[in-house]
Amino acid sequence: MITSQKATAAASLPDKSKGDAQVRLDNRNTVAHSARRCPQIHPLPRSGETETQGLQYKQPITLPRTSPSVPPPEPRPSIKLRSGWLCRTLAATALALVTPAPALPATDDGEVTNFLLDNGMEVVVIPDHRAPIITHMVWYKVGSADEPPGKSGIAHFVEHLMFKAATTNHAAGELGRAVSAIGGLSNAFTSYDFTAFHETVAPSSLEHMMHFEADRMVNLVLTEDDIKTERDVILEERRWRIDNNPQAVLEEEVGATLWQNQPYRIPVIGWLQEMDKLNWTDAAEFYDLYYRPNNAVLVVAGDVEPETVKALAEKTYGKVAAGPSLTRTRPVEPEQNARRTVTVRDPRVSVPGLSTHWVVPSYHTAEAGEAEALDLLAEILGGGNRSRLYQTLVVKQGIAADAGAYFQGTMLDATRFTIYGAPRGDAKLADLEAAADAEIARIVRDGVTDDELDGAKDRCVRSMIFARDDQPYMAYLYGSTLTIGRNVQDVREWSDRIRKVTTDQVKAVAARYLVPEHSTTGYLLPKTGN
Ligand SMILES: [Zn+2]
Repeated sequence: MITSQKATAAASLPDKSKGDAQVRLDNRNTVAHSARRCPQIHPLPRSGETETQGLQYKQPITLPRTSPSVPPPEPRPSIKLRSGWLCRTLAATALALVTPAPALPATDDGEVTNFLLDNGMEVVVIPDHRAPIITHMVWYKVGSADEPPGKSGIAHFVEHLMFKAATTNHAAGELGRAVSAIGGLSNAFTSYDFTAFHETVAPSSLEHMMHFEADRMVNLVLTEDDIKTERDVILEERRWRIDNNPQAVLEEEVGATLWQNQPYRIPVIGWLQEMDKLNWTDAAEFYDLYYRPNNAVLVVAGDVEPETVKALAEKTYGKVAAGPSLTRTRPVEPEQNARRTVTVRDPRVSVPGLSTHWVVPSYHTAEAGEAEALDLLAEILGGGNRSRLYQTLVVKQGIAADAGAYFQGTMLDATRFTIYGAPRGDAKLADLEAAADAEIARIVRDGVTDDELDGAKDRCVRSMIFARDDQPYMAYLYGSTLTIGRNVQDVREWSDRIRKVTTDQVKAVAARYLVPEHSTTGYLLPKTGN
């Protein structure tokens, strides 16, 4: 066990798993191998309306619409990520100590209910009675950007250990086997700002899942053998996610260049030489500090009533003692005063690509209306095949195989606005870059039209409406929003705020943030040429 303090706190958790988790299928491959559990590594759903996995690489685009430091994820079975906050963006150290969230008044507008347990754990319930299934997610307000200096990868490592290690009440792998036995799904992911664990099961299994998650929140029993074997797993994961993929190598380099001071510059999976030295003490300290109910958000979506969730949450999570109050204060990015470029040449690259990034405010840091305007700017500039970049570079000029833009709005600190493209035929990256720069300059000079803005708003609002049909995604949406310090109301009112954005605001954010001299561009090239 990691600490006696935590073990004591959890001793009273009921153990309902014993006896009813008949093992019909060994689920170790699903829950034990990190690659299966941490595809997300990226905070926000980011793909466009037509994309299903914002985090997935797709051909022939050389540079994916993912954060540079994020390794390519494996598809997750139950969480479908979309790009941007919602329309396109609905897409990172100091450790610190937090003020517990103030007591929230219980709210219920017929759709989403949220409340606090006595130990400070926030709970969100998203009723959806169309099918007898629930999505149960536990979000921790800790990610790679909260890691202590020199310990990169520890957040992701602890995520792995949550599956690898036994607890005082359960053998290693028991949760996974229990979930498989009932035909459910279980997974987890780590990002810059959060770490989450989730199960999709029948409503009758909700209490069982709550028991398992509450148990491993406090009763993890780490052994040196767990550390050694799972460290090998994450090292191997890094090799295949990053080192074997020139796109990912470039993304990592771009991230470390775009961010000069902010911890988003460190890859979620960690730097190899630091990962290699992560040890029992590192894991135990990290777990003890962050895996606490008052640093977590429980999200339950599906065929269940808020009263039931509240009663079960009090019976399970409510028994776990609160930890110290934490606050998240991180190094702030200085103003960028030079255009930066990063070039990766690799013989494995068959199709070159480029992406240009600007540091912009996130929904959490922006002045009122700016993040919404950035979302709409991304939609107009590069949100699908009706966008300016696509129409100009792909359709009219025929110099690109694909082109687009995204705004990664749901981040705790300042974030990025990105455009990307891959050339077609004999076109050079310089051709794409010049054409894209011209489109941005045109918006800075002339703004966008009312029709463009109205269309972009419609698509964004529509995407929120459609999102309601996607239970795991709704759980993801609320979880990712709440763990970065925003609230249920922010999600509810997002569509209204989008509706209020003006053409002047879109023009203003383009002019203020998409400054060529403040950009960072990554080029992916074959060993020779272009
Ligand atoms: Zn992993």
